[in-house]
Amino acid sequence: MMIDRLNSIHSQIRAAAENAGRTPDSVLLLAVSKTKSAQAITEAYQAGQRHFGENYVQEALAKQQELSAFAVTWHFIGPIQSNKTRLIAEHFDWVHSVDSLKIAQRLSSQRPAHLAALNICLQVNISDETSKSGIGLEDLAELCAQVGQLPHLRLRGVMAIPAPESQFERQRQPYQRLYRAVKQLPTAADLDTFSFGMSGDLAAAIMEGATIVRIGTALFGARS
Ligand SMILES: *Cc1c(COP(=O)(O)O)cnc(C)c1O
Repeated sequence: MMIDRLNSIHSQIRAAAENAGRTPDSVLLLAVSKTKSAQAITEAYQAGQRHFGENYVQEALAKQQELSAFAVTWHFIGPIQSNKTRLIAEHFDWVHSVDSLKIAQRLSSQRPAHLAALNICLQVNISDETSKSGIGLEDLAELCAQVGQLPHLRLRGVMAIPAPESQFERQRQPYQRLYRAVKQLPTAADLDTFSFGMSGDLAAAIMEGATIVRIGTALFGARS
């Protein structure tokens, strides 16, 4: 049952937060619903879940239309192509995967005036895998300064997807490195969001400061 899986994830979050000396409500559960049906989202919504994350624009828009009666907060977490920025700027509340000034500028200029500023996380590549998206740690300070100036965006923090590790201590390391780098930025006080952690590493992510955990598999089951 969806309610049981949600309860189980909330207890994992609570346990991890307590273990880290943090309050459980400092961690937001983002339900990652990519490839899952509007029906699956409806079940989670009816069980109390409000924040949903999607990776593919067209797929997300179809579900948003079907679920327009619901008060969902929509997060875009997938790779961003330039030709999709307008739809993202128009249809989402958060974007976790910004990794260039060009994409940020487009999102800002295309954000409709009647909507609140679009919440932004910069995606940082902290596993030194050349194939993964995200900026290098060495470029974080400059991009933060630039994105922080854009009028229709609100820079909230960072997102990371480290290379998978099964050991807790190894899972912690990249998050710890990024957390410390963010806290040393001149603009650190303006940044309140660490989008860290997925189904396989949420406890390690929470230990290292996650404020949003992005959970797909543990909530909706495996993706085909
Ligand atoms: C798919 C995805 C997730 C969810 O991963 P699970 O391991 O299924 O919890 C989280 N973040 C991003 C960016 C994703 O693409």
